[in-house]
Amino acid sequence: MQVVRTVEELRKARAVLSGKVGFVPTMGALHLGHASLIDIAHQHNDHVIASIFVNPTQFAAHEDLDTYPRDEKRDLEVLRAKNTAIAYLPDLETIYPDGAHAVSLNMGDITTILEGVSRPHFFNGVALVVLKLFLHATPDSAIFGKKDYQQLCVIYKLVDNFSLPIEIFGAPIMRESDGLALSSRNVYLDQTQRAIAPNLYKTLQDIKHEISGNTGIRSALQKGKESLLAAGFTSIDYLELCDNHTLQPLQSPHKSARILAATQLGSVRLIDNISIG
Ligand code: AMP
Repeated sequence: MQVVRTVEELRKARAVLSGKVGFVPTMGALHLGHASLIDIAHQHNDHVIASIFVNPTQFAAHEDLDTYPRDEKRDLEVLRAKNTAIAYLPDLETIYPDGAHAVSLNMGDITTILEGVSRPHFFNGVALVVLKLFLHATPDSAIFGKKDYQQLCVIYKLVDNFSLPIEIFGAPIMRESDGLALSSRNVYLDQTQRAIAPNLYKTLQDIKHEISGNTGIRSALQKGKESLLAAGFTSIDYLELCDNHTLQPLQSPHKSARILAATQLGSVRLIDNISIG
Protein backbone atom coordinates (compact mmCIF):
# COMPACT_ATOMS: atom_id res chain seq x y z
CA MET A 1 0.00 0.00 0.00
CA GLN A 2 1.30 3.43 -0.90
CA VAL A 3 0.63 6.20 1.59
CA VAL A 4 0.47 9.56 -0.19
CA ARG A 5 -0.26 13.04 1.10
CA THR A 6 -0.15 15.40 -1.87
CA VAL A 7 -2.13 15.60 -5.11
CA GLU A 8 1.06 15.07 -7.11
CA GLU A 9 1.98 11.91 -5.19
CA LEU A 10 -1.57 10.61 -5.53
CA ARG A 11 -1.71 11.25 -9.29
CA LYS A 12 1.66 9.50 -9.76
CA ALA A 13 0.56 6.46 -7.75
CA ARG A 14 -2.89 6.42 -9.43
CA ALA A 15 -1.41 6.60 -12.95
CA VAL A 16 0.30 3.22 -12.67
CA LEU A 17 -2.82 1.37 -11.49
CA SER A 18 -4.19 -0.62 -14.40
CA GLY A 19 -7.88 -1.45 -14.73
CA LYS A 20 -10.72 -0.01 -12.68
CA VAL A 21 -10.17 2.02 -9.55
CA GLY A 22 -12.67 2.31 -6.71
CA PHE A 23 -12.56 5.08 -4.13
CA VAL A 24 -13.65 5.13 -0.49
CA PRO A 25 -13.51 8.55 1.18
CA THR A 26 -13.50 8.53 5.00
CA MET A 27 -12.71 10.72 7.98
CA GLY A 28 -10.69 7.93 9.61
CA ALA A 29 -11.30 6.27 13.01
CA LEU A 30 -12.02 3.29 10.79
CA HIS A 31 -14.46 0.57 11.82
CA LEU A 32 -16.11 -2.41 10.15
CA GLY A 33 -18.54 -0.10 8.33
CA HIS A 34 -15.64 1.55 6.50
CA ALA A 35 -14.04 -1.86 5.90
CA SER A 36 -17.26 -3.08 4.26
CA LEU A 37 -17.09 -0.17 1.80
CA ILE A 38 -13.57 -1.25 0.83
CA ASP A 39 -14.83 -4.82 0.30
CA ILE A 40 -17.55 -3.49 -2.02
CA ALA A 41 -14.99 -1.34 -3.84
CA HIS A 42 -12.90 -4.47 -4.47
CA GLN A 43 -15.94 -6.30 -5.86
CA HIS A 44 -16.37 -3.68 -8.59
CA ASN A 45 -12.77 -2.70 -9.27
CA ASP A 46 -9.19 -3.88 -9.74
CA HIS A 47 -7.74 -1.47 -7.18
CA VAL A 48 -8.97 0.58 -4.24
CA ILE A 49 -7.95 4.04 -3.10
CA ALA A 50 -9.12 5.17 0.34
CA SER A 51 -8.77 8.65 1.77
CA ILE A 52 -8.68 9.91 5.32
CA PHE A 53 -9.43 13.58 5.80
CA VAL A 54 -11.32 15.19 8.67
CA ASN A 55 -13.06 17.89 6.69
CA PRO A 56 -13.45 21.19 8.57
CA THR A 57 -16.05 22.64 6.20
CA GLN A 58 -18.64 20.08 7.27
CA PHE A 59 -18.32 20.89 10.97
CA ALA A 60 -20.12 23.83 12.57
CA ALA A 61 -18.21 25.90 15.13
CA HIS A 62 -19.88 24.13 18.08
CA GLU A 63 -19.27 20.64 16.68
CA ASP A 64 -16.47 18.16 17.39
CA LEU A 65 -13.81 19.00 14.75
CA ASP A 66 -11.02 19.31 17.35
CA THR A 67 -11.96 16.22 19.31
CA TYR A 68 -13.01 13.99 16.37
CA PRO A 69 -11.28 10.60 16.99
CA ARG A 70 -8.01 10.29 15.05
CA ASP A 71 -5.67 7.29 14.93
CA GLU A 72 -3.63 7.34 11.75
CA LYS A 73 -1.40 4.38 12.60
CA ARG A 74 -4.31 2.06 13.33
CA ASP A 75 -6.28 3.31 10.32
CA LEU A 76 -3.36 2.56 8.00
CA GLU A 77 -3.18 -0.96 9.43
CA VAL A 78 -6.89 -1.43 8.66
CA LEU A 79 -6.43 -0.15 5.10
CA ARG A 80 -3.37 -2.35 4.57
CA ALA A 81 -5.21 -5.42 5.85
CA LYS A 82 -8.00 -4.65 3.38
CA ASN A 83 -5.60 -4.67 0.45
CA THR A 84 -5.93 -0.97 -0.30
CA ALA A 85 -3.61 0.13 -3.11
CA ILE A 86 -3.31 3.78 -2.11
CA ALA A 87 -4.10 5.55 1.16
CA TYR A 88 -4.53 9.27 0.50
CA LEU A 89 -4.06 11.42 3.61
CA PRO A 90 -4.03 15.04 2.44
CA ASP A 91 -3.44 17.85 4.89
CA LEU A 92 -5.65 20.92 5.20
CA GLU A 93 -3.62 23.02 2.79
CA THR A 94 -3.67 20.36 0.09
CA ILE A 95 -7.47 20.34 0.12
CA TYR A 96 -8.00 24.04 0.84
CA PRO A 97 -4.99 25.97 -0.50
CA ASP A 98 -6.70 29.32 0.08
CA GLY A 99 -8.22 28.43 3.45
CA ALA A 100 -11.19 26.24 4.32
CA HIS A 101 -13.88 28.76 3.48
CA ALA A 102 -12.42 30.53 0.43
CA VAL A 103 -14.45 28.50 -2.07
CA SER A 104 -17.91 27.06 -1.56
CA LEU A 105 -20.48 24.90 -3.28
CA ASN A 106 -24.25 25.02 -2.84
CA MET A 107 -26.06 21.79 -3.63
CA GLY A 108 -29.52 23.32 -3.21
CA ASP A 109 -32.70 22.20 -1.47
CA ILE A 110 -31.60 18.71 -0.47
CA THR A 111 -29.03 20.28 1.88
CA THR A 112 -31.63 22.22 3.88
CA ILE A 113 -34.01 19.42 4.94
CA LEU A 114 -33.63 16.72 7.66
CA GLU A 115 -29.94 16.87 8.75
CA GLY A 116 -29.64 20.23 7.00
CA VAL A 117 -32.07 21.92 9.40
CA SER A 118 -29.69 21.65 12.35
CA ARG A 119 -26.50 21.36 10.25
CA PRO A 120 -27.01 23.95 7.47
CA HIS A 121 -23.39 23.89 6.20
CA PHE A 122 -22.86 20.17 6.46
CA PHE A 123 -23.81 18.81 3.03
CA ASN A 124 -22.32 21.69 1.06
CA GLY A 125 -19.08 21.03 2.96
CA VAL A 126 -19.31 17.32 2.18
CA ALA A 127 -20.03 17.98 -1.51
CA LEU A 128 -17.08 20.36 -1.79
CA VAL A 129 -14.56 18.00 -0.24
CA VAL A 130 -15.86 14.97 -2.16
CA LEU A 131 -15.67 16.89 -5.45
CA LYS A 132 -12.07 17.81 -4.68
CA LEU A 133 -11.20 14.25 -3.64
CA PHE A 134 -12.83 12.90 -6.83
CA LEU A 135 -10.76 15.30 -8.94
CA HIS A 136 -7.61 14.25 -7.10
CA ALA A 137 -8.23 10.47 -7.24
CA THR A 138 -10.15 10.28 -10.58
CA PRO A 139 -11.77 6.94 -9.65
CA ASP A 140 -14.10 4.87 -11.84
CA SER A 141 -16.46 4.38 -8.93
CA ALA A 142 -16.88 5.47 -5.33
CA ILE A 143 -18.63 3.82 -2.40
CA PHE A 144 -20.65 5.60 0.29
CA GLY A 145 -22.58 4.13 3.22
CA LYS A 146 -26.36 4.25 3.48
CA LYS A 147 -25.76 4.99 7.15
CA ASP A 148 -25.45 8.60 5.99
CA TYR A 149 -28.36 8.28 3.61
CA GLN A 150 -28.91 11.96 2.91
CA GLN A 151 -25.20 12.32 2.20
CA LEU A 152 -25.46 9.53 -0.37
CA CYS A 153 -28.32 11.45 -2.06
CA VAL A 154 -26.18 14.60 -2.13
CA ILE A 155 -23.33 12.63 -3.74
CA TYR A 156 -25.67 11.27 -6.44
CA LYS A 157 -26.75 14.84 -7.10
CA LEU A 158 -23.14 16.03 -7.23
CA VAL A 159 -22.15 13.38 -9.76
CA ASP A 160 -25.27 14.00 -11.81
CA ASN A 161 -24.98 17.78 -11.77
CA PHE A 162 -21.31 17.92 -12.68
CA SER A 163 -21.61 14.95 -15.11
CA LEU A 164 -18.76 13.24 -13.30
CA PRO A 165 -17.79 9.91 -14.93
CA ILE A 166 -17.89 8.12 -11.57
CA GLU A 167 -20.31 5.35 -10.64
CA ILE A 168 -21.67 5.63 -7.10
CA PHE A 169 -22.50 2.57 -4.99
CA GLY A 170 -24.55 2.80 -1.79
CA ALA A 171 -23.39 0.29 0.84
CA PRO A 172 -25.61 -1.41 3.46
CA ILE A 173 -25.44 -0.15 7.05
CA MET A 174 -23.11 -2.22 9.24
CA ARG A 175 -24.38 -2.68 12.79
CA GLU A 176 -23.30 -3.98 16.17
CA SER A 177 -24.97 -7.25 17.16
CA ASP A 178 -27.55 -5.27 19.16
CA GLY A 179 -28.49 -3.18 16.10
CA LEU A 180 -26.57 0.04 16.80
CA ALA A 181 -25.21 1.38 13.51
CA LEU A 182 -21.41 1.50 13.58
CA SER A 183 -20.09 5.04 13.77
CA SER A 184 -16.75 6.62 14.62
CA ARG A 185 -18.65 8.79 17.10
CA ASN A 186 -19.99 5.79 19.08
CA VAL A 187 -16.82 6.06 21.20
CA TYR A 188 -18.38 9.19 22.73
CA LEU A 189 -21.19 7.11 24.29
CA ASP A 190 -20.80 6.33 27.99
CA GLN A 191 -21.96 2.98 29.35
CA THR A 192 -25.52 4.12 30.10
CA GLN A 193 -25.89 5.83 26.73
CA ARG A 194 -24.45 2.80 24.95
CA ALA A 195 -27.19 0.67 26.51
CA ILE A 196 -29.88 3.12 25.33
CA ALA A 197 -28.48 3.64 21.81
CA PRO A 198 -29.71 0.38 20.16
CA ASN A 199 -33.28 1.54 20.81
CA LEU A 200 -32.96 3.87 17.83
CA TYR A 201 -32.78 1.01 15.32
CA LYS A 202 -35.30 -1.02 17.32
CA THR A 203 -37.77 1.87 17.11
CA LEU A 204 -37.24 2.21 13.34
CA GLN A 205 -37.99 -1.51 13.00
CA ASP A 206 -41.09 -1.16 15.20
CA ILE A 207 -42.38 1.73 13.08
CA LYS A 208 -41.76 -0.24 9.90
CA HIS A 209 -43.70 -3.13 11.39
CA GLU A 210 -46.58 -0.88 12.51
CA ILE A 211 -46.86 0.75 9.10
CA SER A 212 -46.98 -2.63 7.37
CA GLY A 213 -49.78 -3.56 9.79
CA ASN A 214 -51.86 -0.62 8.57
CA THR A 215 -51.23 1.78 11.45
CA GLY A 216 -51.35 5.33 10.04
CA ILE A 217 -47.95 6.88 9.44
CA ARG A 218 -48.41 9.90 11.66
CA SER A 219 -49.49 7.83 14.66
CA ALA A 220 -46.72 5.25 14.07
CA LEU A 221 -44.12 8.05 13.97
CA GLN A 222 -45.62 9.73 17.04
CA LYS A 223 -45.52 6.45 18.95
CA GLY A 224 -41.90 5.98 17.81
CA LYS A 225 -40.95 9.42 19.16
CA GLU A 226 -42.58 8.64 22.49
CA SER A 227 -40.78 5.33 22.83
CA LEU A 228 -37.41 6.93 21.98
CA LEU A 229 -37.90 9.51 24.72
CA ALA A 230 -39.09 6.80 27.13
CA ALA A 231 -35.95 4.76 26.32
CA GLY A 232 -33.80 7.69 27.47
CA PHE A 233 -32.98 9.72 24.35
CA THR A 234 -32.60 13.39 25.23
CA SER A 235 -34.40 14.73 22.16
CA ILE A 236 -35.46 13.82 18.65
CA ASP A 237 -34.26 16.04 15.88
CA TYR A 238 -36.39 14.37 13.21
CA LEU A 239 -38.16 11.10 12.61
CA GLU A 240 -39.69 11.12 9.14
CA LEU A 241 -40.96 8.85 6.42
CA CYS A 242 -39.40 10.12 3.20
CA ASP A 243 -39.13 9.31 -0.47
CA ASN A 244 -35.89 7.39 -1.11
CA HIS A 245 -34.72 9.72 -3.87
CA THR A 246 -36.06 13.20 -3.13
CA LEU A 247 -36.16 12.76 0.68
CA GLN A 248 -39.42 14.70 0.67
CA PRO A 249 -41.77 13.68 3.53
CA LEU A 250 -44.46 11.13 2.62
CA GLN A 251 -47.98 10.82 4.00
CA SER A 252 -48.26 7.18 2.96
CA PRO A 253 -45.63 4.49 2.43
CA HIS A 254 -44.68 3.30 -1.02
CA LYS A 255 -42.07 0.92 -2.39
CA SER A 256 -39.17 3.34 -2.34
CA ALA A 257 -39.70 4.93 1.04
CA ARG A 258 -37.37 5.21 4.01
CA ILE A 259 -37.64 6.31 7.62
CA LEU A 260 -34.81 8.62 8.62
CA ALA A 261 -34.04 9.65 12.19
CA ALA A 262 -31.67 11.86 14.14
CA THR A 263 -31.62 11.85 17.91
CA GLN A 264 -29.61 13.41 20.65
CA LEU A 265 -28.35 11.19 23.46
CA GLY A 266 -26.71 13.55 25.93
CA SER A 267 -24.14 15.35 23.82
CA VAL A 268 -23.96 12.56 21.23
CA ARG A 269 -25.98 12.83 18.04
CA LEU A 270 -27.09 9.51 16.54
CA ILE A 271 -28.56 9.06 13.07
CA ASP A 272 -30.03 5.98 11.45
CA ASN A 273 -32.49 4.96 8.73
CA ILE A 274 -34.41 1.97 7.49
CA SER A 275 -35.89 1.10 4.11
CA ILE A 276 -39.64 0.50 3.89
CA GLY A 277 -41.08 -1.60 1.14
P1 AMP B 1 -17.07 8.86 7.86
O1 AMP B 1 -15.67 8.42 8.11
O2 AMP B 1 -17.96 8.81 9.06
O3 AMP B 1 -17.16 10.15 7.09
O4 AMP B 1 -17.69 7.76 6.89
C1 AMP B 1 -17.06 7.40 5.68
C2 AMP B 1 -17.97 6.51 4.90
O5 AMP B 1 -18.29 5.36 5.66
C3 AMP B 1 -19.32 7.17 4.55
O6 AMP B 1 -19.67 6.80 3.22
C4 AMP B 1 -20.24 6.57 5.56
O7 AMP B 1 -21.59 6.54 5.14
C5 AMP B 1 -19.68 5.18 5.67
N1 AMP B 1 -20.11 4.54 6.92
C6 AMP B 1 -20.01 5.04 8.17
N2 AMP B 1 -20.59 4.21 9.06
C7 AMP B 1 -21.07 3.16 8.35
C8 AMP B 1 -21.79 1.98 8.68
N3 AMP B 1 -22.14 1.70 9.94
N4 AMP B 1 -22.13 1.13 7.68
C9 AMP B 1 -21.81 1.40 6.39
N5 AMP B 1 -21.12 2.50 6.01
C10 AMP B 1 -20.77 3.38 6.97
